[in-house]
Amino acid sequence: MKILKFGGTSVGSPQRMKDVSALINDGETKIVVLSAMSGTTNSLVEIADYIKKRNPEAANNVINKLRGMYMQHVEELYTDTSLAEQTRKLLRGIFLHLHNLTACSYTPQLEKEILAQGELMSTNMVTNYLLELGVKVKLIPALDYMRIDENGEPDLPYIKQHIAEILKQHAGYDLYITQGFICRNMKGETDNLQRGGSDYTACLIGAVLGAEEIQIWTDIDGMHNNDPRFVPGTTPVRQLNFEEAAELAYFGAKILHPTCIQPARYAGVPVRLLNTMDPSAPGTIINNQMQRGTIKAVAAKDNITAIKIVSSRMLLATGFLRKVFEIFETNQTPIDMVTTSEVGVTLTIDNTAHLAAITEELKKYGTVETDENMCIICVVGDLRWGNVGFETLVTEALSEIPVRMISYGGSNHNISLLVREADKKAALCSLSAKLFA
Ligand code: ADP
Ligand code: ASP
Ligand code: MG
Repeated sequence: MKILKFGGTSVGSPQRMKDVSALINDGETKIVVLSAMSGTTNSLVEIADYIKKRNPEAANNVINKLRGMYMQHVEELYTDTSLAEQTRKLLRGIFLHLHNLTACSYTPQLEKEILAQGELMSTNMVTNYLLELGVKVKLIPALDYMRIDENGEPDLPYIKQHIAEILKQHAGYDLYITQGFICRNMKGETDNLQRGGSDYTACLIGAVLGAEEIQIWTDIDGMHNNDPRFVPGTTPVRQLNFEEAAELAYFGAKILHPTCIQPARYAGVPVRLLNTMDPSAPGTIINNQMQRGTIKAVAAKDNITAIKIVSSRMLLATGFLRKVFEIFETNQTPIDMVTTSEVGVTLTIDNTAHLAAITEELKKYGTVETDENMCIICVVGDLRWGNVGFETLVTEALSEIPVRMISYGGSNHNISLLVREADKKAALCSLSAKLFA
């Protein structure tokens, strides 16, 4: 069985919902993961933000605007009056729920409950449209099987057992529709897999079920060799190794959720990136194969802070690095890049929630300096150290740009460089010109 995920733009209007329905309705049994309609999750974030700022009136205005849009979508989507009315009833219930939530005080939990509504709406709308077409379709609620553990990691045994049971219970349907992004936590509360998390939902389902293929359908013809939002003339990469794709996703290629490739890789399920706007385009296949001797793509991750600890006294002492890393661990802050010298070490983080506590503790071990508003540029491909010349090409491309850190040799697949966020566009463009011209 294949798992197909359609992102926000792919279901972003009634016409798009009709196009997606036509695309998935080909007689082959499949599981279809849907995002919220594009813009909806951002509006829901805005609603939560107004509640946080104790401005329920503004929150209600956003809800009213959203409701107006959705009611119009219903008019355009259905010809069957009873399915249209059924959908209206469901949407009215969701908007009433949102209005009621504006009377509550803000908590992170309240925000998660609000954010979950977008996927609940889109999946119900598309399922009812497929019912109108006479398709044998079943909506399976993600909240019945998708769960994260106390560390926010997917609870794979639970997901596997529950989705398998649900599918067995509802055997015989042609299409199974489910929500991306949303899940429950260990307390049973509504939670989510972070922004962009619908990709993760699809990959988790594909991995636990040992699917034939996971397809991520979006608004572009696969993974491009550089970020098309910043670099003109990027082109699609037709094949990526799981590790290359995982690095690109983690280091900023927005087409994939940062951690969605890992489960597919462990399960050995290929992932195909396809374009809803041009379904016959070949897209990108992500699998176990490794194309030798080529650099594939470049990505960039913003909002990076570099932290340098200089300590001539301590660095060579046994256990210094352990102490430094422990400080990040106890403050639950993941480290992205590390470079060391005999007298100092620099690390980068993207989550600065505990930065003050981290720097306070690091000061026990040396002089601490931070550089904010930095950006990791990640070059991905066959970068085994025996491949002469690739690192030279990369540094030559950046010869006009101040580079704060370089990390090479950590894996066979990547070179990472830290530059100022202000230099990101120039760095990406120079790399494209040097590596892919
Ligand atoms: P969806 O809503 O379908 O999940 P996203 O907006 O999350 O879609 O991801 C698709 C977008 O990712 C593209 O429109 C493109 O602007 C952006 N993007 C960033 N880097 C890349 C890349 N290397 N290749 C392709 N798209 C990329
Ligand atoms: N709707 C969610 C978001 O906008 C999840 C997703 O689209 O993948 O982040
Ligand atoms: Mg996305």
